Amino acid sequence: MAKMKGIVPVGDCKVQVREFEIPEPKDDEVLVEVKCSGICGSDVNTFRMSWEQINERQNLVVSHEAGGVVQKVGKNVENISVGDRVCIYHYLGCGKCKYCLEGKYGWCEDKEAYGWHFNGSAREYLIAKAVNCCPLPEELPFEDAAFMACSAGTAYASLKKLDSFAADGYLTVMGLGPIGMVCSLMAAAKGWNVLACDLSETRVKFAEGLGIHVIQSNGDSPLSEQIKDAMDGRLPIRIMDTTGHPSGLADAVEIAENGAHIVTIGKGRRKYLMSDRFDISEVVVKELVIQGSWVFTLPEYYEMMEFMVEHKLSFNNLVTGRYSFDEAQEAFEAVADMNNAGKTVFIKK
Ligand SMILES: [Zn+2]
Ligand SMILES: [Zn+2]
Repeated sequence: MAKMKGIVPVGDCKVQVREFEIPEPKDDEVLVEVKCSGICGSDVNTFRMSWEQINERQNLVVSHEAGGVVQKVGKNVENISVGDRVCIYHYLGCGKCKYCLEGKYGWCEDKEAYGWHFNGSAREYLIAKAVNCCPLPEELPFEDAAFMACSAGTAYASLKKLDSFAADGYLTVMGLGPIGMVCSLMAAAKGWNVLACDLSETRVKFAEGLGIHVIQSNGDSPLSEQIKDAMDGRLPIRIMDTTGHPSGLADAVEIAENGAHIVTIGKGRRKYLMSDRFDISEVVVKELVIQGSWVFTLPEYYEMMEFMVEHKLSFNNLVTGRYSFDEAQEAFEAVADMNNAGKTVFIKK
């Protein structure tokens, strides 16, 4: 049987390139040749774990951000054909509960995900349920699928939560990892005036190169003063916290205008507790609304896809590292470097 390569984390910042058999799709499944697979922040968390911490995911192929081309379809598959370009939605649900029926697979009690419950997307071929194969329009390169499967979907769903909120045209984005970058570009496409903040000079420079208005938040003056200077004396009424760090949310609360709406999306790998700088009395007195946002629904993929095509939006220029599967160790080390900016992906070279 034909073989393929897949990337398996083996603990303590090491990954192995292993050989697997290319699987055969069952009746309702599809075999996809992976053209691009992104490395997510959550994969870097796994990369840094010890073998014991990897626990139930030991020996599983990592990652969940894939785009590719359909190679084979099972006999019951009608919505997808061989040769179709697809982006793989990374959650599977029972398909019957109220959450699944709304497309909210992430809330299904029986949910499973690529790289968590079964082999992930950092491999040359993967099996997907037909329902998880979302169309990838010709206008969008396979690199975009790596964003749309995770970070861009998450950004799209969280920005929607700010849509309905009265605002002044500004959006402040905390953190310029891939999700912060994507949020900034998507919000700019919506016509919002984006101001982003990050500590890292590398990320600040990279974002500025993409035309994003950025404040480097470890400057000499308080962040709120820097923001006021950049926003005609105002403070943010609409804030997206993408830092996944307690200080990011504490900063957001600190800089928020009275009545502001904050959406927060990152959560890290451990129990995520508030910073001791987070002062609840500020939430009370300023009457802040703080809302969480967790990934995105399957229907939201289709909305995002139309949004991207309509606004001619691509995240291809956020890709700063393109590696083959054989270069997996190097690729993961590059992403784990805190000075890294942009997105790293595996592609067929
Ligand atoms: Zn991800
Ligand atoms: Zn379900």
